Amino acid sequence: MRLKDKVAIVTGAARGIGQATAFKFAREGAKVVVCDLTPELIGETVKSIRDAGGDAIGSIVDVRDIATLRQMVDEAVANWGRIDVLVNNAGIVKDAQLKNMTEEQFDLVVEINLKGVYNCTRAVVDTMLAQQSGVILSTSSVVGLYGNFGQTNYAATKGAVISMTKTWAKELGRKGIRANAVCPGFIGTTILNSMPERVLRAMEERVPLGRLGRPEEIADAFAFLASDEASYINGAILEVGGGVTL
Ligand code: NAP
Repeated sequence: MRLKDKVAIVTGAARGIGQATAFKFAREGAKVVVCDLTPELIGETVKSIRDAGGDAIGSIVDVRDIATLRQMVDEAVANWGRIDVLVNNAGIVKDAQLKNMTEEQFDLVVEINLKGVYNCTRAVVDTMLAQQSGVILSTSSVVGLYGNFGQTNYAATKGAVISMTKTWAKELGRKGIRANAVCPGFIGTTILNSMPERVLRAMEERVPLGRLGRPEEIADAFAFLASDEASYINGAILEVGGGVTL
């Protein structure tokens, strides 16, 4: 078990990539805080982990709300004594071409995808600094590296996740804390529901592997980066996109 007894918080963990990551981490021996918005989905995810013999607690938290995030961290520390890994995964899309994008669309994506990542990391960093150890992992996107039609807001936030990750890698490395980001390509989750079918098929054709990715394939990358096998990997931006950007 690569994450035996490590304590991990995963945001946006009630479905999609976050849920696959929570499942994977639990199978690898981690104790997992399943953080998300919808109580029923959080409950189902926690139950699945426990039914499979793993250890998890649920936390109904909006990553925009720093006070509740601090409560979540306190609860995790009260339960398990430490926090080893944060996976900043919660994220949304509100797509529109620049000429049609509203201020609300822009601000909401920034609040969740960018400020939310900052909030969560800020909420755990004191605990990690006191421990002199920790791993901060964040979900960027290939869109954060290369841009994408109709995603001014989303691309900006995912680019910012990369620059925050590099900054934390520099600031926190000597304190025993590693920071890395994963850039998924196009992964089959509900976040793609707003994309027209023809656009999805066109995306698929651009991928040299000829298919969308699976959430579990991103979870595997997170598990590796969270583990001691990645002890010298810091400030890395790992593309997991089947070669879509080639
Ligand atoms: P998803 O299936 O929609 O899952 C995202 C989860 O985050 C949902 O459970 C969602 O809850 C939750 N969430 C949204 N806003 C939140 C908030 N304010 N606080 C707490 N939780 C919140 O999407 P996914 O595809 O797994 O995406 C996960 C991450 O990967 C995102 O950061 C996304 O940008 C990134 N990503 C995805 C792809 C892809 O192709 N799928 C590609 C590159 C990057 P609700 O459903 O209740 O809103």
